Amino acid sequence: MATALYTHEDCLLHVTPLGHPERAERLEAVMRALSAPAFAALERREAPLAERGELLRCHPESYVAEIEASIPARGSRALDADTHVVAGSWDAALRGVGAAGAAVDAVLAGEVGNAFCATRPPGHHAETETPMGFCLFGTIAIAARRALDLHGLARVAVLDFDVHHGNGTQDLLWREARALFVSSHQMPLWPGTGDVHETGAHDNVMNVPLAPGTASPAFRRAWEERVFPALIDFAPELVLVSAGFDGHADDPLANLRLTEDDFAWITGRICDVAEASAGGRVVSTLEGGYDLGALAASVAAHVEVLMERGAA
Ligand SMILES: [Zn+2]
Repeated sequence: MATALYTHEDCLLHVTPLGHPERAERLEAVMRALSAPAFAALERREAPLAERGELLRCHPESYVAEIEASIPARGSRALDADTHVVAGSWDAALRGVGAAGAAVDAVLAGEVGNAFCATRPPGHHAETETPMGFCLFGTIAIAARRALDLHGLARVAVLDFDVHHGNGTQDLLWREARALFVSSHQMPLWPGTGDVHETGAHDNVMNVPLAPGTASPAFRRAWEERVFPALIDFAPELVLVSAGFDGHADDPLANLRLTEDDFAWITGRICDVAEASAGGRVVSTLEGGYDLGALAASVAAHVEVLMERGAA
């Protein structure tokens, strides 16, 4: 089966202040990379706007209303030191949530084997009632709840290999026994959470902190020894991925020393887990990655493996 690629031009309308690392050029670099002939077989789909009710799967109505009211008619508004909104931010964020939801629907319907959502702003730092770290809504956690509540799945895994802890996803899924959330991340590093002792209300959260300077062997060992055995035991029916590529050696925001090969490797191992219990069903969404060249090459490596495995 094919690999679907969900994206939308509205995601370029979320314009951040000059010099901000999470900028529209990131998505342009990703889409340029995915326009190469090697990606001709991607099934390209337009990301729909999420319905407002989708946001309520994880956030209270008061929070959704607060974010909506914060969007300025013109100019930029800072929600915190890192997180800004402009007029286009609302639709951009809703395209991101809509993409992940549509990808879950398509993969569960058997229309495509797996899917990648090239959208921004990212989502994994948004907590229940707090925008944070460039993120407004918890895109991947909302997608997990959609799979559980709308499609009736019993077990969904959410895997986050972004270099920053997925504090938002952890917060949104803390009490969700049907979801296993795993995050590997550099520690110490912003946002400061993600200690190994944070394990969720139902032992459904696993944090894998990595020391600054961690390179390929220790990264792979951590996932191989700690994460994959637990995942195989959990036997997810669907695997969701917060695909952040800021663990790359060239990334300016952190200090891991990963390469494109490591992202290809982890994608393949995630597909192995998905094939064991989930019929190969994987939905991946873009989170971080702030060096344009490293980001483009890493996304290409990630999607190439998704295509190989989806087609198998
Ligand atoms: Zn990150």
